[in-house]
Amino acid sequence: MEIRDILKQQQDFFNSNKTKDVSFRITQLKKFKSILKENESLLYKAIYEDFGKSEFETYVSELSLLYHEINNFIKNIKKWSKRKKVSTGLVNFPARSYIIPEPLGVTLVIGAWNYPYQLSLVPAITSIAAGNTVIVKPSELPAKTSEVMAKIINENFPSNFFYVVEGGAKETTELLEHRFDKIFFTGSIPVGRIIYQAAAKHLTPVTLELGGKSPTFVLADTDIKMTAKRIVWAKFLNAGQTCIAPDYILVDQSIEEKFLTALKTEIEASYKIKEDIGENYLRIINTSNFDRLSKLIDHDNVYFGAYLNRDKIFISPTILQNVSFEDEIMKDEIFGPILPVIAFNNLDEAIKRVKERPKPLSCYIYSKNRKKIDKLLNELSFGGGAINDSVMHLSNSKLPFGGVGLSGIGNYHGKAGFDTFSHYKSILDKPFWFEANLKYAPYSKKKLTLIKWLLE
Ligand code: NAD
Repeated sequence: MEIRDILKQQQDFFNSNKTKDVSFRITQLKKFKSILKENESLLYKAIYEDFGKSEFETYVSELSLLYHEINNFIKNIKKWSKRKKVSTGLVNFPARSYIIPEPLGVTLVIGAWNYPYQLSLVPAITSIAAGNTVIVKPSELPAKTSEVMAKIINENFPSNFFYVVEGGAKETTELLEHRFDKIFFTGSIPVGRIIYQAAAKHLTPVTLELGGKSPTFVLADTDIKMTAKRIVWAKFLNAGQTCIAPDYILVDQSIEEKFLTALKTEIEASYKIKEDIGENYLRIINTSNFDRLSKLIDHDNVYFGAYLNRDKIFISPTILQNVSFEDEIMKDEIFGPILPVIAFNNLDEAIKRVKERPKPLSCYIYSKNRKKIDKLLNELSFGGGAINDSVMHLSNSKLPFGGVGLSGIGNYHGKAGFDTFSHYKSILDKPFWFEANLKYAPYSKKKLTLIKWLLE
């Protein structure tokens, strides 16, 4: 079907006001949940074929989030969709004031490849919960997951309400020629710029969930063993292809050796290096990313790992030491299983180096020293993060998720997502039985004195 036709259908359906009915939205969300459940085996199979992601990781990092968001919306949308009364003030007496949450209309969700289900479908679920219609354009790189999403959605929902368009840059460019009421994009900074420019033509509001280099501070007083355990899991989950993965470590020089040993021990305990593809550890999405990552490994700096197999598109968990801020690996987001470790002996200097770079999507701080934790939280700007953990802030839907500066515009998850896909319509509601007459001509000094008295 032509994009123009789907868009027209969705505009017509939105204008029928059906999606404004909260019970309609709840029915659709329940239906979507049962479709996902019925098709779980297809979803697992597709993602395994795309990049060797196991059922365990797929459930934990993708499907569980979809179910959680659906349940959360089913529970709360009635409350969140209600008019909210606010106070009015004497000037408008005897009026009332309230805010009406309303859906935006026809929305477009453009997904990234690295968590293909979560990144395309959580925004879609959120858009539906807020009362919109939605067209989803998943990433084309994991071809099987894109195909399975198109199949289960397009076969089960009418295209005038919820529809998947498959394709890459060409199809996205075509979609962007049309006017949407909202565009929600997850992906890289360069493509984010393209989306923002295209949206500006139509003055379409956008949310951009982008990337960046997320620093991880490991201070001298931390619990080294637990820090290593949590970092290794967060970094090598999805083979490091996670937008909020710890990108690089800044470790206090006094514990560097102990910390490196702990990282190595933890990797060895978690993964069977060389042959462990599929069970616990993923491969790289494609050979071009494999080649990009391979070039980032300076073999003089390898502390651990760096087993590469191009035929299997596999890079084992790799730790680099003696890295400096000037090295190639510190230029762009790594987005793979390579963890550079930089030792510092002055926290202020380390903070300064982080602040010289674009504001990151995430930051992690491992320490038992509240003063130092607060200092870092106060001095650094970043999208979100965690203290003594990594990545897991994403799993709390009460925490708005999104970037700041170059790492993104806007946020979502839970209520924050509902707000992102809503407009808050402000209403002053006045009866006829009283009029103070102060504001009307003919003006007079007496009226002005009274107005001043009222307003000041
Ligand atoms: P990408 O920017 O290459 O692609 C994202 C989407 O844009 C895809 O659907 C793709 O088809 C489309 N696209 C690509 N080129 C385009 C073009 N020229 N015109 C229009 N559309 C185009 O990103 P990716 O490789 O899929 O994902 C990796 C990036 O996404 C990383 O930078 C990562 O940090 C970021 N990311 C951010 C988040 C987040 O929540 N903030 C989550 C995951 C990934």
